[in-house]
Amino acid sequence: MGKVLIIGAGGVATVAAHKVCQNTDVFTEIMIASRTLAKCDALADVLGRKYGVKVATAKVDADSVEELKSLLSAYKPDIVMNLALPYQDLTIMEACLQTGCNYLDTANYEPREEAHFEYSWQWAYRERFEQAGLCAILGCGFDPGVTSVFTAYAAKHHFDEIHYLDIVDCNAGNHHKAFATNFNPEINIREITQKGLYWENGAYHETEPMEIHKPLTYPGIGPKESYLLHHEEIESLVINYPTIRRARFWMTFGEQYLTYLRVIQDIGMSRIDEVEYLAPKADGTGSATVRIVPLQFLKAVLPNPGDLGQNYEGETSIGCRIRGLRGGAEHTYYVYNNCSHQAAFQETGMQGVSYTTGVPAMIGAKLFLQGVWTGPGVHNVEEFDPDPFMRELASQGLPWHELHDIDLEL
Ligand code: NDP
Repeated sequence: MGKVLIIGAGGVATVAAHKVCQNTDVFTEIMIASRTLAKCDALADVLGRKYGVKVATAKVDADSVEELKSLLSAYKPDIVMNLALPYQDLTIMEACLQTGCNYLDTANYEPREEAHFEYSWQWAYRERFEQAGLCAILGCGFDPGVTSVFTAYAAKHHFDEIHYLDIVDCNAGNHHKAFATNFNPEINIREITQKGLYWENGAYHETEPMEIHKPLTYPGIGPKESYLLHHEEIESLVINYPTIRRARFWMTFGEQYLTYLRVIQDIGMSRIDEVEYLAPKADGTGSATVRIVPLQFLKAVLPNPGDLGQNYEGETSIGCRIRGLRGGAEHTYYVYNNCSHQAAFQETGMQGVSYTTGVPAMIGAKLFLQGVWTGPGVHNVEEFDPDPFMRELASQGLPWHELHDIDLEL
C-alpha cells in the first residue's frame, strides 16, 4: 500500500521499525536512513531475521536539506517518519516539501543553541504544505501523541466541554543504573531543566523548574511525586479545545534522579553553549584548544537509552485526567495506558519509553497510508478522528483503560 522512510536508528526508530515490519499489509516498502549507516544495517539485519522483511538502508545527514532531497528524490517515499532529533524537524519538512513527500514526527522543533521548543516554527509551514497538497503530522509519539488523541477521544465521546486537563506521565521502572535518561539524554535534560509552564484562565503561567509538585496515584503503581513541567502538547490542545480553563503536564521523578540532575546542573554539565579547554596533543607536541558543548559530551558518557531494556523492570503509566461538563453536569474521566518495560524489551529489544513513542508513530503513518488520517496541511494529531487511532493502539501493544467519575487528585 505504501512506501515508508524512517529517519533515525535510535530507540524510538527501532521500535517503530519493528512495528512497521509487523504491518507489512500497509507498509509494503521500508527504508531506514540515519547518520550512522552501521546502526541502520544492524537494525535491518535484526528485522530481516525476525520478520523475513527486506529493509533498505541509507546514510543521511538530516541536518542537510540537500542530502535529504537527494535521498527522498531517489527513494520516493509516500511518508517520511522523522524519528531523529527535534533539531532536524525543519530540514526534513523542507526536504519533504521540495520533493513531494508527506511527513510525520514525534517532537516539535527545537533550535540547538536555545533550549526552547514551540510549534510556531513548524506551524509556519502550514500554507506551503496545503499548497503542495502534502500532509504533515506533528507530535505522534505518546506525549505528545497519544495524550493528544486521548483528549480528542474524551472531547468526542465523554464531554460537551473540557474544563480541566492534566496530563500525567509516570515512569515507575527501574533500570538499575545510577543515572540514565529514557530517551536521548541531550533532549531529555534540556526539556526537564527548563522553567515550568501551564495554561490557566487564558494565559500561560511560568514556574521555576520543578517548583510545583505533589504525589499522584498511578493505577497499578501507587503514589509517586509528580512535577509540573512545560510540555508541548499543551500548546496545541488549548487552541484546539478553547473551553479548557487549565491545562498542565506532570511527570514523576525519583529523589536519586533529581539529586544527580542537580549536581549535573551545578557543575555546569547541562550547559548547551560551547566551552574551550586545553588538551594535550596526541603526538605529544604540546596542547591544542578543544571546544565542546558540555551537555553533548555528557550524552556521550551516559548510558545509551537504547541499551537500558535488558534489566529494566516495572512499567510506565501515562494518561489524561479530565474534568468538564456533559449534559450540564460535571464529570471526571481518566484514560491511561500502562506499559511494561520487560514486555517492550522482549518484543523489540527496547525499553518502555521508546516503545510507547515508536508504536504511536507507526500507527500515525499507517493511518496516513490507509487514507484515514490525511489532508493537506500541517496537523497536530488531535485534529484527526481519534477512534481509528484508539482501535489501533489497543491492538498494537498499548491497551488503554478508562475510569469515570473518580477523584482525580487535581
Ligand atoms: P536516540 O538518540 O536514541 O536516536 C536518535 C537517532 O537520530 C540516532 O539514530 C541518531 O544517529 C539519529 N540522528 C541524530 N542526528 C542526526 C542527523 N543529523 N542526521 C541523521 N540522523 C541523526 O533518540 P530517541 O530514539 O530516544 O528519540 C528520538 C525522537 O523521539 C526524539 O526527537 C525525541 O525527542 C522523541 N521522543 C518523543 C517522545 C514522545 O512521546 N512524543 C518520547 C521520547 C522521545 P546516531 O545513531 O548516529 O546518533
